Amino acid sequence: MRPGEWSFLDAMWRWGGFATDAGWTQAAGRVAIERLRQERLQRLLAWTRRHSRYYATHWAKAPRRDLRLADLPHVHKADLMAHFDDWVTDSAVTRKAVEHFASDLVRIGQPMLGRYAVFSSSGTTGVPGLIVHDADALAVYDALGATRMGALAPAWNWGEPLTGHRYALIAATEGHFAGIVSWERLRALHPWFEANARVFPVTAPIRETCAELERFRPTVVASYATVLRALAYERDAGRLAIQPSVLWYGGEWLAPIARDHIQRAFGCRVAGDYGASEFLNIAFECERGALHLNDDWVVLEPVDENYEPVPPDTASASVLLTNLANHVQPLVRYELGDSVTIASKPCACGRPFPVIRVDGRRDEILRLDDSRGHDVPIMPMALCTAVEEGAGEHRFQVVQTGPAALRVRLEPASRSRHPGARVKDCLSQFLARQGLTHVAIRVETGDIAAHPVSGKFRQVWREKPRLVGG
Ligand SMILES: [Zn+2]
Repeated sequence: MRPGEWSFLDAMWRWGGFATDAGWTQAAGRVAIERLRQERLQRLLAWTRRHSRYYATHWAKAPRRDLRLADLPHVHKADLMAHFDDWVTDSAVTRKAVEHFASDLVRIGQPMLGRYAVFSSSGTTGVPGLIVHDADALAVYDALGATRMGALAPAWNWGEPLTGHRYALIAATEGHFAGIVSWERLRALHPWFEANARVFPVTAPIRETCAELERFRPTVVASYATVLRALAYERDAGRLAIQPSVLWYGGEWLAPIARDHIQRAFGCRVAGDYGASEFLNIAFECERGALHLNDDWVVLEPVDENYEPVPPDTASASVLLTNLANHVQPLVRYELGDSVTIASKPCACGRPFPVIRVDGRRDEILRLDDSRGHDVPIMPMALCTAVEEGAGEHRFQVVQTGPAALRVRLEPASRSRHPGARVKDCLSQFLARQGLTHVAIRVETGDIAAHPVSGKFRQVWREKPRLVGG
């Protein structure tokens, strides 16, 4: 093994253990799941108290014995990031070292210190974060993907190299984001996957991506919900003839109307999961379209505005996540920010995992007119990536205010000089690559507002939606 490479044997060995365990747990039912979750939780809490200086201080008032989650205060990304070196349990994983590692795009998908994966995220709260996952956590995510999603997710399944699938991922590629890092890690580990998987940057114009997809002819396409919707429009317009067997979405909420449209356009299954940089596959979708929580490895606590638990069948104001798999950078009662509802009724599919509904990221596809009056779809993820990577800004909102007009709101706390001009420059360059040279961009500074209807932090939307698309 050379530096900068994952150990195939080590990953396969761990995966084998966790995959056997994940399959057994699913068959064993609720009692076994509860018992395993408790054991894993106690192990995580004991480890965290002993090895994380941040939590040791933060939990000073908590009972010394028989610690329960409810006894512990919740934590926030901004605070954890500010105390990064005290938060982690391996002294070699300093914030400086992780930032240095993540500053180089060549290292996307490579291990840090030979064993850790690094995900950078802005998430729905707009606070940049760096999440480090250890070898066991990565093996757990792989095992959950392979055993819980089954034939729908052959990319995670080490036993299925001969399916003949060709995988396309359309994602943000200009940073160490969870999607692209996981994908590149799998490519590095599995030669058969490397030969049959291709990445398409989400920042490329959609019609260019369609032309590339036509050449590659993927059987599995994975992307954000808004991108799949845009592909469905291209398909309707006769500009995309690929015949995938599964379309996979993640990272954004998929509205039922959008799901129907995508399924109709491609005539194939649309499946997805709910994950975050903090835990890759929190829940998986079954064949009935219900999201099942992997609650043998992750604890989700839906809470109200005062961080009090909400009952089943009630949408939460926020949700606290505890990752039972990752010990290098413990996440215990970590505020994830999404609105989650836990259903009181089990799913008719018979799986023993609880059903949840997630009201996650709800950005909209923008539709801007080019100089000839043609409508050009712009993916929210692409646009955000352009601003984050090009101008280094994370707290901003983009609103389409007219057929060729955008308003960008930047938080005044920006540390860079002339942030408004930088944002305008990188947005203009990004739009020009999409054939949009006439878009008026107005940048203003002010507090980032929650969406007037949903009350959630929303990054990209249209002020005056037209009746086409999106
Ligand atoms: Zn189900």
